[in-house]
Amino acid sequence: MPRMTTRTPRAPRRTTSPSRSQTPPDVPALLQSTQDALEFFGALEPKRAMAVFAHPDDCEFSSGGTVAVLCSLGWEVDIVVATSGNKGTKDPGVTPQQLAGEREEEQRAAARILGAREPVFFGFPDGGLVNDDELRGLIVRQLRLRRPELLITWDGFRAGFNHRDHRRVGRAAYDAVYPAADDHLYYPRDKEEDLEPHRPLAMLLAGATEPDLHVDIEPVLRTKVRATLAHVSQMGGRQEGDMIRMWRERAAAAGNDGPRLRESFKRVVLRR
Ligand SMILES: [Zn+2]
Repeated sequence: MPRMTTRTPRAPRRTTSPSRSQTPPDVPALLQSTQDALEFFGALEPKRAMAVFAHPDDCEFSSGGTVAVLCSLGWEVDIVVATSGNKGTKDPGVTPQQLAGEREEEQRAAARILGAREPVFFGFPDGGLVNDDELRGLIVRQLRLRRPELLITWDGFRAGFNHRDHRRVGRAAYDAVYPAADDHLYYPRDKEEDLEPHRPLAMLLAGATEPDLHVDIEPVLRTKVRATLAHVSQMGGRQEGDMIRMWRERAAAAGNDGPRLRESFKRVVLRR
């Protein structure tokens, strides 16, 4: 029987870890709740999230508003970036090394704007991600080190057009969460750093075909815009107004023609 589901989670399996809350959240109640994302976030303890993405700027475009909301609620948020985006240019005069350095600095600036912690970079080549033992092991180590309750990543299972790095980092993060990070015989070298197994309670998958959790980002919209524009090498001189207009147009085109912008995710809740 699968131990991961979005529909029929069971009671938490492990409640004795010192890093856990004394009163684990009521998972079925969370799932049945008709309340909004804030209620979902409010029920999670401890308030630590990790965003695992493929390129500098992925987090800000897909989830920057959500990260800003979490930070405003007192969460600690880590941003993990698997590549340094070292092919993301049409400028013939720039080298991959220069671009990687530039984009890592942009990501650091964006994280500061959102209120997140210093980003972690794995440094894989842009366009070359593979969902292999190495990538999963690096994600597992971060999960065991930072022990987030919530993991945000790309939906690696979405059908249709997608960047292969997004697909692969999404699947690698999913696979790292279950079963690897929580089973001590996976990546036993982490024991040398005294890192204990860990499993987040929930994942939010960005770019999902059928999202079921919607975060109202209107209160933090300018923060998301500023963080996105911090990726200067990618933004081609766009201004705040350009970004907000573009997102409102995209939302309208997608049928989300409401007055408030939102970020939408597929929610996956894991039992313990
Ligand atoms: Zn990307």
